[in-house]
Formats: sequence, C-alpha cells, structure tokens
Amino acid sequence: MRVHNVGQGNCVGVNCPQMDTALLVDCGSKEHTHRDDPFPPISIEAVKQSIMQLSVGKRITVIITHLDEDHYKWLPKIFNSDTDKERIKRVLIIGDEDSFVRHSNERGSTGKLIKWIESLRMLPKNPKTVTFYSNYNDPLLQSALPPCGIELPALLAANVCKQIPPPRHCKSITEDQNVNKNADSLVMKLNHGACSIILPADAEGVTTDNILENRRHEVENTTVILAPHHGSEKEHANSDEWIRAVNAKVALFSAGTYIGYYHPPFEVIQRFRESPILNHLEEHPLSFYTDQRLGIDFTHQGLLNTLNAGNITVHFLEDDFFVVESYVGNRLLRPTPCVTDESIIQRVVLEEKKDERTVKGSSEMVADMDVGWSADDF
Ligand SMILES: [Zn+2]
Repeated sequence: MRVHNVGQGNCVGVNCPQMDTALLVDCGSKEHTHRDDPFPPISIEAVKQSIMQLSVGKRITVIITHLDEDHYKWLPKIFNSDTDKERIKRVLIIGDEDSFVRHSNERGSTGKLIKWIESLRMLPKNPKTVTFYSNYNDPLLQSALPPCGIELPALLAANVCKQIPPPRHCKSITEDQNVNKNADSLVMKLNHGACSIILPADAEGVTTDNILENRRHEVENTTVILAPHHGSEKEHANSDEWIRAVNAKVALFSAGTYIGYYHPPFEVIQRFRESPILNHLEEHPLSFYTDQRLGIDFTHQGLLNTLNAGNITVHFLEDDFFVVESYVGNRLLRPTPCVTDESIIQRVVLEEKKDERTVKGSSEMVADMDVGWSADDF
C-alpha cells in the first residue's frame, strides 16, 4: 500500500498480492500553496509513474471516496490517454451523480471529472463501468469492492448522513445531496492475515462515531491507519475515542500546505503520540500546525506525514510482519509483527466470531482466493 505524496490531497495505491487487481483509492490534490512554502512543488508526472509502477501488469479499480477535488482532481490528468484509461477496470464513486452534475462548473474540476467519466463510458473498444453509490452502506457497494488481500475489504461506512433519520451533526439535505461529502466518505479496511489498514478518507466525527457504535470490534487494533481528513480535528474528526479504539502501530498523514487548511494540527499529533502501542522508527521529521504556523519536530514514533516523508509505502510480509518505507527507498522500520501478543488474543476471539458469520454469509470469493501469498507490496 502506498500513500502517494500529492501535497494537500489523497491518493492511495494498493497492489493486492497474488491477484490481477490493484486499487487506487482517491487521486486528487490541491498541491502546496502556502506562502513561503519551503517544500518543492508536487509533480503529477512523478505520481503517475509511482501509481503505474505499483500496479504494473494489473487492472486498476478506482474508488473515489467522496466528491471533493482534493480526492479526484488528478484522475483525468493521470489517466489522460486511451492507453492509460484501458488500465482501469472500473470506477466506484461515493456520492450522488445527479447532484454532482447539477452543481458542476464546466470549466472547473467538477466539469473535467464529468467529461472524463463520459470518455471512460464511451471508450471505443472497451467502455468502462462507472457507478455512483449514494445510499447508506449500500450492499451493492460492498459486493462491488474487489477482493484484495486474504479477505474481502470491509466497508465500514459510506453515506453515513443518508441514514433515516440522519445522525445529529449532519447538515440537512436540501437540493444538494452531496452536502455532507466528508461525513459521507467511504471508510474501508483492508485485511491481510493479522495485518490491516484503515483508509477513512475525510471521515468526520459523525462517521467514526457511527463505526464505533456499530462495528467497533472491526477497527480495534488496526496495524496502520491513514488519519481521517488529513489529520484534521474539524467536525470532531480524529477524536480521542477513535484513536484509542483503532490503537494503530503506525499512523500516516496525507497533508500539504494548502492555504487555510492547516493539516494536521498539533493537538491531533499529540493524541496519536499518547498511544502506547506506536512503533519505534528511525528518527524522522514530522510537520504539523500550531496556531496556523507550520512547525516541525523530530520523532522516533510511528507517525509519518507525506509532507516530510514523500511517498510512504507499507509492505505486509510473510508471517504477519510489516515494514514501512519512505525517503525514496530508505527503510525506516525493520520488520515488525502486525499485532502485539495482547491483540493477537483479541483477534483469535474475533476470528471465531467471524467464522460463525462466514458460515451464514456468502464467502465464495474469499474461499477462491489464493491465500498462500509470499510477499510484499500489499
Ligand atoms: Zn480531503
């Protein structure tokens, strides 16, 4: 799994081991635009190369977690030729298509995405399926997520504010169905043996509270988390309760210096720092904002920001170990178990529960998958 360095935005590639599938979860950026920005500009070409290298020889399923441009703006730029578009297997988008089209601006990034989708749907030889999902925890969406890793990806949340009645803190839906875009983000967990990653997009407090209420046991003791909403604490994102429940060994921040956003704030970094289970890495810089000023610290803890670390790659190895890599190939962390002894015990209990459910539910896809994987690149 690789969190591509796109500045202010989100673009995560997953090379599903021993399958012909790769995932691209979001791909957008508002780049860096802060005054006196000490960071180099972000290169779309470099991100494109990195995406293609990670998914070489595979068909890519693109998942757009919500319709904010820092999560989709680069898709039309990266997959711009027919050859690039042919690499795409299908596209899943969380959001309401009619509403998105109605509120689009032809020249802006909304209009460009709509044109790009039309071009995918009309590819001369091999038109692609592009599907929008706008219902609360749509079962069709769960079945559309491709297998990746030993288990199917777990759909933890999508369109949380489309519940009836909607949770408190959701904006009331008038003519814009996409008014709660961040809270409605897709939240997904990828599992590979004892190793796991949560990709929560721009989930807000209402989203993570909903997950803790309904599916708490599925998020506890996750190996790696991408911090929700670029590490923001707006709208109760990255709450104490969420961070404590997830209890991750490594937390990643996909952040830039776009004016006015100030991701991640120092307070959220502190919340993660208090976790006793964070892995010990080589000393590395970690940027954050205090009172809208960019600060930098040096830490051994398992907290990494793309702003300092560039692309961050997590490899799940054999025997439930993992490695984190950044600084262009300089490994930061020696192989470490994905779970501690204590969480292995909890996991065994969970596995037993899961087995009960598997018997009842359909699990042919899981059973068909080759579980004898050897390495790397998850
Ligand atoms: Zn975002």
